[in-house]
Amino acid sequence: MNQKIAQHRHCKACGKAFVGDGRYCSEECEKGNEQTMRKKRRQLLTLYIASVIILIGALVMSVL
Ligand SMILES: [Zn+2]
Repeated sequence: MNQKIAQHRHCKACGKAFVGDGRYCSEECEKGNEQTMRKKRRQLLTLYIASVIILIGALVMSVL
């Protein structure tokens, strides 16, 4: 009974259920998601660098 649920996957980009291998239902979704991921990664990196700078700044201020 649960076999049908186990066999299908959900596309990582659009969330649509599909049957087959891979994480995306189509090549379009794969390409689109890659671009979104790259954007998100850049935003995360910027946030990370900003927090590190703030942390270092706070540390320097507390030492001085
Ligand atoms: Zn999709």
